[in-house]
Amino acid sequence: AGSMAAPTRRAVERRLRSFGTGAVLFYREPIEMVRAEGVWMEAADGRRYLDVYNNVPSVGHCHPRVVEAIRRQVGTLNVHTRYLNDVVDTYAERLLATFPDPIGNLVLTCTGSEANDIALRVAQAATGGTGFIVTETAYHGNTAAVTDVSPSSRPGRPLAPHVRTVPAPDLYRGAGADPGEGMAAAVAQAIADMERHGVRFAGIMVDTVFSSDGVHTDPEGLLAPVLATVHAHGGLFIADEVQPGFGRTGAALWGFERHGIVPDIVTLGKPMGNGFPMGGMALRPDLLAAFNAGDRYFNTFGGNPVAAAAGLAVLDVIRDEGLVENARIVGEHFRDGLREIANRHVVIGDVRGAGLFIGLEFVADREGKAPAPEVASAVINGLRERGVLIGAAGAYGNTLKIRPPLCFTRQDADRVVELCDDVLTEVAAG
Ligand code: PMP
Repeated sequence: AGSMAAPTRRAVERRLRSFGTGAVLFYREPIEMVRAEGVWMEAADGRRYLDVYNNVPSVGHCHPRVVEAIRRQVGTLNVHTRYLNDVVDTYAERLLATFPDPIGNLVLTCTGSEANDIALRVAQAATGGTGFIVTETAYHGNTAAVTDVSPSSRPGRPLAPHVRTVPAPDLYRGAGADPGEGMAAAVAQAIADMERHGVRFAGIMVDTVFSSDGVHTDPEGLLAPVLATVHAHGGLFIADEVQPGFGRTGAALWGFERHGIVPDIVTLGKPMGNGFPMGGMALRPDLLAAFNAGDRYFNTFGGNPVAAAAGLAVLDVIRDEGLVENARIVGEHFRDGLREIANRHVVIGDVRGAGLFIGLEFVADREGKAPAPEVASAVINGLRERGVLIGAAGAYGNTLKIRPPLCFTRQDADRVVELCDDVLTEVAAG
């Protein structure tokens, strides 16, 4: 803290006075942000930063159509969800139309955590089970029940008795000849173990791009045998689309579509309202009916008319600006650029991803693949100095999570690749 500029030090102290020492801030010297537009953010000192990290304002920061939709609705009507309202029903119909049959009902929430929490409750009600499977470094949110299925929130602590984990399909570190069958076998083993301990299986919850496990998007189709195994054992497949959803993979609106599967339950969040707090659960109507037979769910703010207006504008912008296609084209170009500089920088172990969700993994040596989180950290800080914001993920914290707004251009991608090249040259020089 001693080396910080005085205004930053005062702003940090002010933050900690109110929020305590658990307050999470980005960077050793945090940045005070004042405004943003498109793919750019602006700090209090006037510096501009290219946003390559933030997948919430997914159609672009302060997109005028989303801003205007929110502004108009908040000045017209904003009530809880116990009244009929055309905007709310129009949004529900538009959103549900994006899902394959038989997904046909929707519950709207304010956050992804709430969506996952209600998904766990539905799976319990529909199966009579309590046991859940997640991946080893999964994050699914912050409620008590969801924290139990978020091993990354409690590193090193034992899992709750009703939870089992399976490895994410890590092709780089050897997921076997058939990663899908491998994951399905691990799931079957986890189910057998839980049932041996008297826990009945309720379902699996997976982020379909395994973002907190380090971004594992391939091979396409990998989740099909996993889903078959889950169903064979009477469980439900919950696809957590908080990270890949709303077009980020460049292949389709939903990450699970790359795997040719139809989940039982799909949960949504982050980009859903482009920053307006929104989450949701789309599911088979029979599952919601099974839940409603003995349980009730009410959310005061979830899916209110302002949220619905924001959500509708997001769907409109994704369609009208061709953002799924843009994510595919720019994402491919971005990965090509990173692979090209990997020829010069041996610390780059792997470049992977789908659309504009890219993982860039750093290693100490390519043979042993020893994780190099210190390189990831040096690159994150080096890029920040060069006006680019980016973060890391994965069990070892050595994988950059590249996740810009979907309106990113090839030129934006080229700029990041060039600056990465520059930072890595500096890092190599010591
Ligand atoms: N699921 C996944 C995969 C997430 O990444 C997150 C948030 N990082 C959540 C759920 C929780 O969403 P929220 O923070 O909106 O509660």
